[in-house]
Amino acid sequence: MTIKKIFIVGSGLMGGGIAQVCAQAGLEVFLYDVDPEALNKALKSIEWSVGKFVEKGKVKEDRATIMDRIRTVIDFSEAATVDLTIEAVFERLDLKQEIFKKIGEVTGKEALIASNTSAIPISELAAVTERPERVLGLHFFNPVPMMQVVEVIKGIATTDETARKGREFVLQIGKEPIMVNRDVAGFVINRINFPSTIEAMNLVEQGIATVEDIDKGLRLALGRKMGIFETGDMVGLDVTFGAMTAIYQETGDPRWYPPMILRRKVKAGHLGRKTGRGWYAYNEDGTRKEK
Ligand code: NAD
Repeated sequence: MTIKKIFIVGSGLMGGGIAQVCAQAGLEVFLYDVDPEALNKALKSIEWSVGKFVEKGKVKEDRATIMDRIRTVIDFSEAATVDLTIEAVFERLDLKQEIFKKIGEVTGKEALIASNTSAIPISELAAVTERPERVLGLHFFNPVPMMQVVEVIKGIATTDETARKGREFVLQIGKEPIMVNRDVAGFVINRINFPSTIEAMNLVEQGIATVEDIDKGLRLALGRKMGIFETGDMVGLDVTFGAMTAIYQETGDPRWYPPMILRRKVKAGHLGRKTGRGWYAYNEDGTRKEK
């Protein structure tokens, strides 16, 4: 089965990125959001990013051809015509369940229904639909156009066939799948990465090392392209907070509880690049303010 049409719910950082890579791979894309401003912003940022890909010769088609494949929509009617829907709204179970219920009612019997959640168990989303066997996780990484890997996650009711189709879709859009056979909260990559993220935050909170020095050390000693806090500002502190909270709630294990410094920053609205301040501070043009 080749995916030809896709419906994406949520046009933020991730939804916009997923729309872009699908359009670049030749799919017809419907991009939905409750916030018209978010849709406009997404189109602008996709157009800019596609332009960069064209400029560098990383895609063969021109920008207009790729952009023509993306249509912004403000209702769910087109979801009835697609092969796959991917939900990428805020990391909140109630909100995602509301959307899964609607999507389950609208989409065709054969369509796959996916979530890009960072940590919410897929089975909890599948449970509110009529077709839990067709529900799966497709966890993209940020920034979507650059990051090559996608986790393909099975919920308890997801069939092998659905997981196989999810894997084929990831290959179809030029990414590399990692198969996650059970929907443990946090899946595989966050489950491995979060303990060091939490430890880095604790070290800052205890005044043992600075954000700048930890990031420098991780880049120079461990060969990471970006430090934990640089990545955290790009991802959004609220997104990390939501994902850690979901793992904590699912496991009941206090080691996943978001550190106080993260909780306070989220409450204060210091969410990273998107609010101009997170672990670092940013100028209007997005460059980092020097201390
Ligand atoms: P974001 O805040 O950039 O975008 C979320 C979008 O959802 C917004 O445009 C908002 O208007 C829209 N939205 C909210 N309620 C909606 C509704 N009822 N219907 C339609 N749209 C609605 O968030 P994001 O960073 O793109 O994250 C989206 C999802 O992807 C989350 O589940 C997050 O955990 C996951 N994720 C994020 C990252 C990351 O690095 N940011 C990485 C992997 C996965």
